Amino acid sequence: MTTDTVSAPETHAFEADVSKLLHMMVHSVYSDKDVFLRELISNAADACEKLRYEAISNPALFGDDPQPRITLVLDKEAGTIVVEDNGIGMSAADMGETLGTIARSGTKAFMDRLTADKNGEGQQLIGQFGVGFYSAFMVAGNVDVVSRRAGTDEAARWSSDGLGTYTIAPVDTAEAPARGTRVTLHLLDDAKTYAERYTVERIVQAQSGHVPVPIFIKELGSDEEERQVADGAALWTKAKSDISEEDYADFYRSVAGQFDKPALTLHYRAEGRHEYSVLTFIPETKPFDLFDPDRKGRIKLYVRRVFITDEAEILPRYLRFVRGLVDSADLPLNMSREMIQDSPVLSAIQKGVSNRILSELDKIATSDADRYGAIWENFGAVLKEGLYEDFERRAQLLGLARFKTSTSNGQWRSLKDYAASLQDNQTAIYYATGTDLDRIAQSPQLEGFKARGIEVLLLPDQVDSFWTTVGVDYDGKPFKSVTQGATDLSLIPLAEGSAAADAPNEDVSSFINFAKEALADQVSDVRVSDRLTTSAVCIVASESAMDLQLERMLAAAGQVPERAKPVLEVNAGHTLIAKLGQTGASDEERSDLAFLLLDEARIAEGQPPADPRAFAERLERLMAKSLN
Ligand code: ADP
Ligand code: MG
Repeated sequence: MTTDTVSAPETHAFEADVSKLLHMMVHSVYSDKDVFLRELISNAADACEKLRYEAISNPALFGDDPQPRITLVLDKEAGTIVVEDNGIGMSAADMGETLGTIARSGTKAFMDRLTADKNGEGQQLIGQFGVGFYSAFMVAGNVDVVSRRAGTDEAARWSSDGLGTYTIAPVDTAEAPARGTRVTLHLLDDAKTYAERYTVERIVQAQSGHVPVPIFIKELGSDEEERQVADGAALWTKAKSDISEEDYADFYRSVAGQFDKPALTLHYRAEGRHEYSVLTFIPETKPFDLFDPDRKGRIKLYVRRVFITDEAEILPRYLRFVRGLVDSADLPLNMSREMIQDSPVLSAIQKGVSNRILSELDKIATSDADRYGAIWENFGAVLKEGLYEDFERRAQLLGLARFKTSTSNGQWRSLKDYAASLQDNQTAIYYATGTDLDRIAQSPQLEGFKARGIEVLLLPDQVDSFWTTVGVDYDGKPFKSVTQGATDLSLIPLAEGSAAADAPNEDVSSFINFAKEALADQVSDVRVSDRLTTSAVCIVASESAMDLQLERMLAAAGQVPERAKPVLEVNAGHTLIAKLGQTGASDEERSDLAFLLLDEARIAEGQPPADPRAFAERLERLMAKSLN
């Protein structure tokens, strides 16, 4: 559509994704259909805020009606509910663009998730994805939207049964609101309750009590007057003592579009060089798109109660799970959104709020370890991105970091805890990376550490392979991968009850030399290990090479042309290794055994044998021999 107006009704097909989405909305049985009202009210409130913003440079848009309001009109007899606002409104072209398409990125992910939705979490996702308007079709067979863009003389009607097409037609301005949008829902038979005051009032109070625009309810065919059900006061401007926990939770839900509770609420007013109010929340549950590369933080920026933008990137990326708003008293209102981004006032706010959130986390970490553990469980993997992205706050983030370790029995440990239980002569903080905590905990490379009582951090997140390689240290101790380089554990005494590994005898040495040659194409070295106590072999990365897990991740992403050859380490004290040195086997047989050992080590790591067919043949020869 190229013009802003229509002269005759036009029928359009929904974008394919919208049709799919609508189909899912209508046919999935959401236990909680009430969300549609929250979505429509939130759109109405957004429209009022947009008008407030545009009116800064063009006050005439307000006309003689500067007070924003949302009105819900209920008609039991007709079976309708109307959500009307006096906000910015939409032209016919606006309606075509916004009510027939899905603009937001990440919608695909949303729909995949909705399709796979088994436990009814779909309803919690609706609000996060700019698909809010379509939720009207969960309760309505037909939806009409009549709208008039502020400052214009034309009005249009959008209508649809949600089945595949929608129509946009011109309407007489006398039939339209003087400004803004009127959404009429013709309720389905099983949703008639949404035309009743009692139901609607309850939902508004529970879900939308804190939208920053006052809400009124009018019931047609009843004697009762129109009644205000929400005061539209900005919660963040009230005194903390006047705000209940429930108020905060309601507000959180409307600002975050989530249905859980805040795990942490931070409400304060910064004074001094810059004045601003902050009301932010850390959610109790993890949004599913936390690792979507397109996902941005969505902290809203207000200037003296006027909503400006939610794209100001007030917090660093690694705090993208924090929701809420900042209201500045000193940014000029008439500054463009682009200029605001470069403003020194905004940088001061960014710095101040980020620091405050981290110090607040620090407080909880000290005062309430369980509560902090729950937050870390959800968002630790994101916070760890800060370890390599935010050099300035690295020390603080290391202080906040929690780890499960080889000795912690599933409990979270801080680096301070770790540092307090170093063994004699231990000079590094040891870690093991992987994709699965249990697998990492079982890996043979940990055996020698366990035997010496050395704690090893178990790092199962993707991000762990990155921050550990940027030269981070803690308390003067470097981080060292247990799968990389030679370890020198011999200086650290064995824990009581652990047998000392035998020094390799001559037979073992001769087998090692043989294996080194036989496997020369596969490994850079074969050597005796002090990492192992029970397993016979393991593979590790050579000193100069990358950590194995990082190498695997990069290779999977097509980034390392050729993988560095690993080192095969053997346990000289293991009976099998000792016997291998003594057999009178032929060179072919000894070569088979060397290859099998290497493959065994690879399999224990969760990798396939280097050459599965050759592996199978060697194994068969060995089995045949053992049956002789
Ligand atoms: P979102 O609100 O996340 O953008 P919605 O599906 O709820 O997604 O709404 C889609 C778009 O439709 C909005 O972004 C807005 O442009 C437009 N819209 C919906 N309701 C209104 C309204 N009451 N007034 C003005 N524009 C509206
Ligand atoms: Mg919306």
